[in-house]
Amino acid sequence: MRLKNIPGSREKIAESEYVIKEPMPGRWKEVFENEHPLRIEIGMGKGAFIMEMARQNPDINYVGIEKFSSVLFRAIQKQEVFDLPNLKFIRMDAEEIGSYFEPGEVDKIYLNFSDPWPKERHAKRRLTSRTFLSRYSIILKEKGEIEFKTDNKVLFEFSVEEAREAGWEILLETRDLHASEYASGNVMTEYEEKFSAMGIPICKYIIKKA
Ligand code: SAM
Repeated sequence: MRLKNIPGSREKIAESEYVIKEPMPGRWKEVFENEHPLRIEIGMGKGAFIMEMARQNPDINYVGIEKFSSVLFRAIQKQEVFDLPNLKFIRMDAEEIGSYFEPGEVDKIYLNFSDPWPKERHAKRRLTSRTFLSRYSIILKEKGEIEFKTDNKVLFEFSVEEAREAGWEILLETRDLHASEYASGNVMTEYEEKFSAMGIPICKYIIKKA
């Protein structure tokens, strides 16, 4: 998701109490002032999914990660209304994930409608590639999980194959989430709302670190 540059968005991010500006691996308990599990969404867009998850699960801490200031700006605006105590944001590229979280600190990672990077030479940039899986594997706790949803079948098949090749255990795999037994309790993302309204089936996996 790329929104038009919003004048003032960088300043807003710099001033926002909801955004963590400096890496503080190992100090998330201080940030949230509790010992609750830590879950992150990478590429959260405008934040509808992570905000709803945080609202439904006050005993879990959430961190939403987004690369673009103009997009994060929208999430901050919503958080200013809801002021959820268990939700923070980081503006960064997922490549830097290892500097923000200590090994084993994260309980679960959500990847929702990640950019497909269709050209083969860009495969390493896909957030479900083995390159990224190895980064996630460091920050995830033992038996930590990744939940991934997409409308893109090609990306989904690639992602399942990458997870298998990298030795992750596949706990759930569906190519039509909304018609499946796993639909109950599903929290939709902004992209998911859009694609499912167009009748496009949603693919989902949950994988566990071996
Ligand atoms: N997750 C949201 C949803 O499902 O509605 C947004 C999906 S949108 C297609 C992908 C989002 O991921 C965009 O907002 C984009 O800026 C962000 N993104 C893509 N690559 C990223 C990266 N390497 N690090 C952080 N965010 C990234």
